[in-house]
Amino acid sequence: MRDSTVAVVGAGLSGLTAARELHRRGIDVIVLEAADRVGGRVLGRTSALGSRFDLGGQWIGHDHHLVPELAAELGVTMFPMHTGTLPTVIDGERRVSPLGPSMLVSALALAGIGVLARVGAPARLNASTLDRWLSRVPGRTARRLLEVVALISWTGDLDRLSVRAATDMIRYQGGLLTILGTKGGAQESLLVESAGALVERLAAELGPRVCTGHRVTSIVCGDRVLVRTASGDVQADKAIVTPPPPVASRIAFEPALPPNLVALQRNTYMGSVYKAVAVYHRPFWRERGGGEFIVLDRPGSAVFDTTAPGGPGHLCVLVGGPDARELSALDAAARREAVLRPLVPHIGREVLEPADWQEKSWHLDEFVEGGYVALPKPGTTEGFVPMPCGPVGDIHWGGSETATGHPGYLDGAIEAGRRAAAEVIAAL
Ligand SMILES: Cc1cc2nc3c(=O)[nH]c(=O)nc-3n(C[C@H](O)[C@H](O)[C@H](O)COP(=O)(O)OP(=O)(O)OC[C@H]3O[C@@H](n4cnc5c(N)ncnc54)[C@H](O)[C@@H]3O)c2cc1C
Repeated sequence: MRDSTVAVVGAGLSGLTAARELHRRGIDVIVLEAADRVGGRVLGRTSALGSRFDLGGQWIGHDHHLVPELAAELGVTMFPMHTGTLPTVIDGERRVSPLGPSMLVSALALAGIGVLARVGAPARLNASTLDRWLSRVPGRTARRLLEVVALISWTGDLDRLSVRAATDMIRYQGGLLTILGTKGGAQESLLVESAGALVERLAAELGPRVCTGHRVTSIVCGDRVLVRTASGDVQADKAIVTPPPPVASRIAFEPALPPNLVALQRNTYMGSVYKAVAVYHRPFWRERGGGEFIVLDRPGSAVFDTTAPGGPGHLCVLVGGPDARELSALDAAARREAVLRPLVPHIGREVLEPADWQEKSWHLDEFVEGGYVALPKPGTTEGFVPMPCGPVGDIHWGGSETATGHPGYLDGAIEAGRRAAAEVIAAL
């Protein structure tokens, strides 16, 4: 049995931030991570050409301040994403005209949702799901465009996400233009060394205090807190729990958590999301109209040019919801073909031959279970962000979902980790 003043559950950005704050104050801390790697929803990789990129969280929004601050502290370099004015919407060989009727209908439908987000959707829309809203939008192309945009934005299947939950997230995350935006929006900047470098460098600072391969199975609160893991137990004065509520529901709490937290864990789920990065010797698409696309073919995807200045070309692909699960069911070669083939008529056959190709189906990750963020089930309200974070005895709650600024984002994970650490420092 190991002994520590504080046990942090989860070595994602939130847990590592909390642990670092405590360690810097001279408080004995141990981080227990189920996976054999740190980072959780953050995962940096090095390409065959030596460049760094992310298969998990990567973008830094225009008004995000904690990631830039942490990046500067850790010697990680920010750069603005290469972007045009609007992504090209492609439907097979066809480019959907930005001034055509489908785009106009989609823009009007989005504007309607934007208004609901600003004024607040009525409570009855908490039982009404996004797929029902979508079925009333005229035109196949407009409906498919809105479907792909919604799946990429939230990753939850549209029959599992209420209109009210979506509008609430839009309001909380700064409006539709911010959520969908690149320059001036949530996808403004990236990190040359990858967001993965943040968690790698935090973990390096913490050294042997970070224990991977330690899945917490139960937390028993008595005089002290007993944290049981599959690889040995830890006794501590305080625990900070950072996995999102549907993931934390697999930990047995004794005594049982209060009913509101049990309901929170039961009434939230992680969405399905697949992400891939194709690496090329140079960003050749920039000479052919750019590399930013919304693809309406199946799988529907969003493609971004995430190339760092002076680096090899990076095309980043995101697929959400049922399309992501269908993709995961294919073998690796068929998956790559399904994702890259729709781009051929628009940027050429070169796109089929990347120098490197790496991918991840987040919904198949045993310990993360999906992304980007925990979502509320239709008809329930517990999982609206920010999710509750009041301590329960000696258990404190971190995790991006509990942040008041930018919940569900990297910035939120840092905020929540700092807040949980401050609570523990004050209580100790
Ligand atoms: C594909 C994808 C793309 C994204 N893109 C962006 C983006 O561009 N910009 C942005 O700001 N955000 C993005 N996000 C969201 C962002 O990555 C998350 O908000 C953030 O990383 C959450 O950090 P966290 O520490 O709160 O949670 P997590 O990263 O989920 O950390 C929780 C940790 O707990 C561990 N764990 C789970 N159960 C147990 C257990 N029983 N015992 C011990 N450990 C356990 C997990 O393995 C994990 O490491 C994205 C997420 C995904 C998945």
